[in-house]
Amino acid sequence: MAYVITSLCIGNKHAACVKVCPCDCIHPTPDEAGFAEAKQLYIDPDPCIDCGLCEGECPARAIFQEDDLPDEHQAAKEWNAARAALQR
Ligand code: SF4
Repeated sequence: MAYVITSLCIGNKHAACVKVCPCDCIHPTPDEAGFAEAKQLYIDPDPCIDCGLCEGECPARAIFQEDDLPDEHQAAKEWNAARAALQR
């Protein structure tokens, strides 16, 4: 199980989640290439330990546990995983 960043991140990219994640599984970070161009951040589901710290930090409320994704954001689960796979 993992947390997922939805399209509610688009136009925000506060990256507060990056600072609290103990597993460095949220990308791109503000220090990584591609941050400025990225529409939104994503969570790599493999290293995610499902701790939930990122969810509470997001001012845009863009992050959900995958089982709690609203219907309109279901596609975000696969998008986060696919985006992470591209970076491996
Ligand atoms: Fe990182 Fe925890 Fe959020 Fe997973 S749930 S992305 S480990 S802060």
